[in-house]
Amino acid sequence: MTNPFETAKEQLDAAAKIANFDADKVARLKRPDRYVEVSIPLRMDDGRQEIFTGFRSQHNNARGPYKGGIRYHQNVTLDEIRAFSFWMSFKNAVVDIPFGGGKGGIIFDPHKVSEGELERISRGYIQKVYRLFGPEFDVPAPDVNTNGKIMGWMLDEYEKLTGTKAPATFTGKNLEDGGSEGRTEATGFGGGYVLKQAIAKGLVGDQKTIAIQGFGNVATYLAEAVKDMDFKIVALSDSKGGIYNEQGIDLAAAEKHKKETGALKGLEGTKDISNEELLELDVAVLVPAALENALNGDNADKIKANLILEMANGPTTPEADEVFAKKGLHVLPDILCNSGGVCTSYYEWYQNMNNEKWSKEDVLAKLEKQMIAAFTAVWEQQQKHDTTFRNAAYIVAGQRIIEAMK
Ligand code: NAD
Repeated sequence: MTNPFETAKEQLDAAAKIANFDADKVARLKRPDRYVEVSIPLRMDDGRQEIFTGFRSQHNNARGPYKGGIRYHQNVTLDEIRAFSFWMSFKNAVVDIPFGGGKGGIIFDPHKVSEGELERISRGYIQKVYRLFGPEFDVPAPDVNTNGKIMGWMLDEYEKLTGTKAPATFTGKNLEDGGSEGRTEATGFGGGYVLKQAIAKGLVGDQKTIAIQGFGNVATYLAEAVKDMDFKIVALSDSKGGIYNEQGIDLAAAEKHKKETGALKGLEGTKDISNEELLELDVAVLVPAALENALNGDNADKIKANLILEMANGPTTPEADEVFAKKGLHVLPDILCNSGGVCTSYYEWYQNMNNEKWSKEDVLAKLEKQMIAAFTAVWEQQQKHDTTFRNAAYIVAGQRIIEAMK
């Protein structure tokens, strides 16, 4: 299995070589400022004690407070969390918001605990790490398997422990807890704004088909966004498998089916396919929107899409990147494509800090402008250095971070 932290460092090295980054700064960026592992003892509903393991990694805060989500998953590892905190520093710099990078996680499967246990684990995590958090120091947010409700519990615990009112400490909150309009849609819509730019630059070709792996929050709103671009979504998947229809999948029917049966598989009018088959479809745009390492040395040769729009974090291994670069297949990188979420998190933080409330229209208009500016900066570096979009994005971000570190 590819170690995501090693992947992150290789990606930085590639850009550093092209743009001639200061070697001392690169060495510093290869190590997070700090990371912690915490034990969270929990009384389960049946009276047993279980001890869960959690992490927080703070990568770099030269451009602003550490910022990044908290993931609940049985496969969370410290290296993954360190890699994500690194990617957050670069993502926040590409989209040009005044935040550094952080990430957290707890090793457990949230589907296997009760609602009460979930709340106690979330509050237990905060009891162990709250001294690291704060609106001007480290600002967490949701990630895979965490949501606005969990951020609400965490904020409540944080405010109890610190005796402060500090809603800007967490973003991705529900509206009633001080969340921002537009946050739920932001990552998917942000990817849509990037895709629009890519189409305008001729990166997609004439065929307008798209396959999306991982039909969760991000994929749902990306799918919503591409509907307006006249795309046919021919394949979708979740952890249980995928569905395919060359005429296009009815999104509302897919959502309803998933709600009713817990899976996409078996949707009427579609053919069941595996996640591997989905990735290898002959489509114009392939969107990995699930977990990391989906595109790797084993399947890179078989990928037929014209363009990969990385909505998941770290979905392509360096081995696969090399194959794609040789084939001339364009990969629009995660740190650009999925930065709409954290961009809107910044808007939420800003509104909380300044006691403002923006409308959804205002949020989405600002987001579109910011995503276009980010794409344009990456495009310019890609053209200047005749390199991959990933290298170009790392060059844009690396230059901004190193400038701030100086
Ligand atoms: P989510 O939990 O809402 O959805 C994840 C989806 O992926 C689910 O449908 C799940 O069934 C599916 N999945 C899980 N394992 C899979 C597998 N092995 N094969 C196929 N599908 C699988 O999560 P999300 O918020 O939509 O996040 C998806 C990705 O986007 C993650 O990599 C996350 O880090 C990244 N991301 C999310 C945000 C955000 O704002 N939510 C922002 C930036 C990046």
